Formats: sequence, C-alpha cells, structure tokens
Amino acid sequence: MSAVASRTERLTAAGDQIFDAVIIGGGVNGACLYDRLCREGYSVALLDRGDFACGTSQASAMMVWGGLLYLRCFDLGSVYRFSRARDSMIREMGDLISPRVFRYCTVPGAVLGKYVVLSGLYAYWLIGHFNRRHPALEAHYPEERLVAQSAGSLTYEEAVLKMSDSRFVLHWIAPHALPRGVALNYCAVDGGDFDQAERFWRLRAQDRLGTSQIEIRSRLVVNCAGVWTDQVNAAFAIRSPYKHALSKGVYISFPRPSDHEIPLIFESGAHGDVMTSVPWGPVAMWGPTETAIDDADQGFVVAPEDVRFLLDQRNRCLRANSRKEDILALRCGVRPLAVKVDYKKHVYPLELSRRFRIATDSQRPWISTYGGKLTGCTLLAAKVAAAARPFLPPPPAVAPQPRLPGGMPRKRFPGFEESVPDPAWCKAQEFCCTLEDYLRRRTNIAQWLPRGGLGRHDENLPHLRKVCLALADGDEVAAEADLSRYRSKVAEQFDAVLKAA
Ligand SMILES: Cc1cc2nc3c(=O)[nH]c(=O)nc-3n(C[C@H](O)[C@H](O)[C@H](O)COP(=O)(O)OP(=O)(O)OC[C@H]3O[C@@H](n4cnc5c(N)ncnc54)[C@H](O)[C@@H]3O)c2cc1C
Repeated sequence: MSAVASRTERLTAAGDQIFDAVIIGGGVNGACLYDRLCREGYSVALLDRGDFACGTSQASAMMVWGGLLYLRCFDLGSVYRFSRARDSMIREMGDLISPRVFRYCTVPGAVLGKYVVLSGLYAYWLIGHFNRRHPALEAHYPEERLVAQSAGSLTYEEAVLKMSDSRFVLHWIAPHALPRGVALNYCAVDGGDFDQAERFWRLRAQDRLGTSQIEIRSRLVVNCAGVWTDQVNAAFAIRSPYKHALSKGVYISFPRPSDHEIPLIFESGAHGDVMTSVPWGPVAMWGPTETAIDDADQGFVVAPEDVRFLLDQRNRCLRANSRKEDILALRCGVRPLAVKVDYKKHVYPLELSRRFRIATDSQRPWISTYGGKLTGCTLLAAKVAAAARPFLPPPPAVAPQPRLPGGMPRKRFPGFEESVPDPAWCKAQEFCCTLEDYLRRRTNIAQWLPRGGLGRHDENLPHLRKVCLALADGDEVAAEADLSRYRSKVAEQFDAVLKAA
C-alpha cells in the first residue's frame, strides 16, 4: 500500500486547486461525508483544527443504538430513525459493527418496575421492526456478583463498534488520496469570503504544526464542526435557523472484571437517566454524566465534581467500593444537540431531540450540520450529499478508486495484551503527528493504561520516548518537546483532577 502523501504535499495540494467541497471538521460526521463525496468522484478537502476525531467523536460510548432512552420523552420519531440507522449499519458494515446484548439491571424498589421496563423494551423492539433479538427477563445473571442489589435483569439487543470510535472516524478518511481527496489535520479554518464574481470561497486556514497560512478555494463549504458549528458560522457571518445546545458527558474507567462482558445499565434515579458500565478491552467505562453547559471548550475537561458524582453513582449500583485511586482513565465530550435558533428554555438535555438537522444558506453555497451521532452518520452524509448536489459540477464518469487497506505492522507495548500499530506506520498512513494522536486515537493505550499510558509511576516513559522519536523522524529535540507537552497535559487533566476530586 502506498503511503498517504506527506503533510507538505497535502498542504501544497490544498492551495493549488479549486475544490468542489471543503468540509470543516473531521469528527465522525465530517469524515463520513468526506468518504461519501470522494467516492462519488468530487474533489474534497477535509480540514480539522486538531487531530481527526479529537472532538466529541473520541469520547462516545461506541454504541450503535436505536435510541432507547428517547422513548422516555416519547420522541418516537428519533427512536424509529436511530433503530433503522442501527440496523442498516449492522447489515452494511459487519466488519466494523456487531450486534451486542445489553443488560438492564433492576434493583429492589426501583422507580421503574421491571414490567414497566419490559413493556418499554417490547415497544422499542416493535419500533425497530423486530430486527434485533427479542427482550427477555432473567431472574439471575452472570454479572450478578458485581451488582450491589439485584432484582433480576432484562436483556435486549443493540450494536457496538468493533474498533474505537477514533479509529471508526479514521477508517472513513484514510482510503482517499491526492489529488482529489486532501485530508489535513491541525489545519484551522478561521475566516474567509465568498468571491461572488468567481463563485467560489476563499478560506483562510492556519497550519497549526507550522507557521504558514494557506488560502483554500472551494465551490461549497460544509460546516461539520460539531459543537463549534455556531462559532464557525459566526466567523463567516452565516445565519441559520438552528444552533447547538451543549451537553457535557463524562466516563471514568476502571479495570474490567473478566466476567463483565456485556454492557450493564442501571437506573440513575435522577431525570429518568441511566448509568452504564461498558466493557471495552481491559477496562469498563462508567458513566455518562449529562450536564447542560454554555461553553463548548469548557466541556472537554473533566471536573472534580464529575468524578465525585460518578463515583457516588458507581458505589450505589455496584458491589465493589471504588475509590478515585482505582480510576484508570477519564473520557469527556460535549454532545451537539440541534435546537431552533431561538431556543432559550433550559430543559434537561436528555429531553431534547437527538435528531440531526441540515441548513443551507440562502445566499451563499454553505451547508451547516447540527446534531448527528455515530449511529446514523451514513444517513447524515447521504442527506448532506443530496443537499450539496445543486452546488457541485457533475461528478466524473469514473470515480477514483479508494486506496486498498494494507497490512498494519504491529508492536508490543508493555502492560498491553494485544499488539499495537507501529508509530512510524501510523505517521505514514494515518496522519499521526503527535504522541497524543498515537496514544489516544491510533491506539487505545491512553484509555487502557493508567495516566494516559504513562503508567502509575511514569514507568512507560522510555517506551513513550521511543514513540516520540519515531514520530519526529529521530529529531531528539522535537521528540522531547512532544513528550513534555503530553506529560503536562496528563498532569493537568488527570492527576490534578483526581487529586481535587
Ligand atoms: C459521553 C458521550 C457518549 C456518547 N455516546 C454515543 C454513542 O454511544 N453512540 C452514538 O452514536 N453517539 C454517541 N455520542 C454522540 C457522538 O459522539 C457525537 O454526537 C458525535 O461524535 C459528534 O460528531 P461530530 O463530527 O459532529 O463532532 P466532533 O467529533 O466534535 O467533530 C467536530 C470537529 O470539528 C473540528 N473543528 C472545530 N472548529 C474547527 C475549525 N475552525 N476549523 C477546523 N476544524 C474545526 C474539531 O476539532 C472537531 O474535531 C456520545 C457523546 C458523548 C459526549
């Protein structure tokens, strides 16, 4: 398999042509749309100001689900759409997504009696056209010994990603090559204008790994910036009938008991919400929180009170008395929830519809996307592609072939059972630029080993130094700077948070 073009080649290609479309934001929505437009033969640039998937898309529960929770506020339309999207993703992407049984654990004296929950699960199954396994009541179950109090459980079927959510995003991006597909991470779009005479956009983009600023020209812009969509629209004076309400979601991870193999769900007692324990490799993720916030950037940092809340909930639901010292990893994102632009009411975020929305500007070729999840990302891409067509020239009769996936050389990493992709390969093939890209999004090291992969007592430092050297092509000064940046981030966003919790 040929290597992805170098960053310098991609930066040059970005400035050299007039694209059919530029997509701002390389989370799951932007990436899936990029794949779709590239496969249709259009010339497309995908730009992210950080690494691909560094926003909310790296913080999900990795569930491809039909929206069971939205039954509680009778959002039947969303449940119907998500269930259909889930089932078509299982059918069409069997190598990436697999069906998985989930277990709803009932406790004595629960607010929702088990027969009420069972009726809800049957309704869910019906709305999903009976495509998944039917719900069942179980008086006893294998994970019962982990649970604080048990009054049986109910099982039903959803689906999960077989890979991490970050890798799911990358898999849409990596197959497309120059000259028509240009993917640039660490490239922030901060302004620009529409040239009415030439009928194309001139976007100002900043190469955040260098110092250069480039002008990128495109017939159409699609704003897929997730919770930053409104900010990006404001920079271009784009008005829209929608905006985002923001809901912060945090998971904390613990070592996974070997008999904890399927997701466990517990009533949380507040707002009809639930807590889940999601097994993922050697860890089990506990959460999520659901907190309405105003500032997107503030929501990407776990606060000590998030940790305290989740520990309390965990110790209420599970038998083991977990302490903050047992926490292996923190995980945090902000859900982009589509609301009308005049939305002012502050309802609990779970009561807001999870439906995605698309807005096409009436004056200029600009499409904004709102909402959107892993589940149904292909549906969103199809809808945006249809809305984009009037602005695009006819695609070539023969679309370019995506690159074939090649063998990924793998290596051992201390404390890690499975082998991990070679960092130099990730750099050449998967746009991996920094130590954090490698530990958090090309591998699961940052989420499966303590303290972002550094180890409880920094015991993995020598290995991380080698990774940095491979990513910096042997430049020791650059490698040391990368390592030091990463250590500071772990100190600030893990060590200090747990100390204060
Ligand atoms: C705790 C939690 C659990 C979840 N669990 C699930 C789940 O199990 N299943 C599910 O389907 N969904 C789940 N979701 C929802 C799902 O993760 C998100 O809705 C989805 O990832 C949003 O993707 P996105 O592409 O819209 O946004 P993002 O992933 O945030 O991508 C937006 C990108 O835009 C980039 N950007 C911003 N500004 C600029 C700029 N000026 N220039 C260039 N780039 C820019 C950002 O860097 C970012 O990478 C969960 C969400 C949370 C918070």
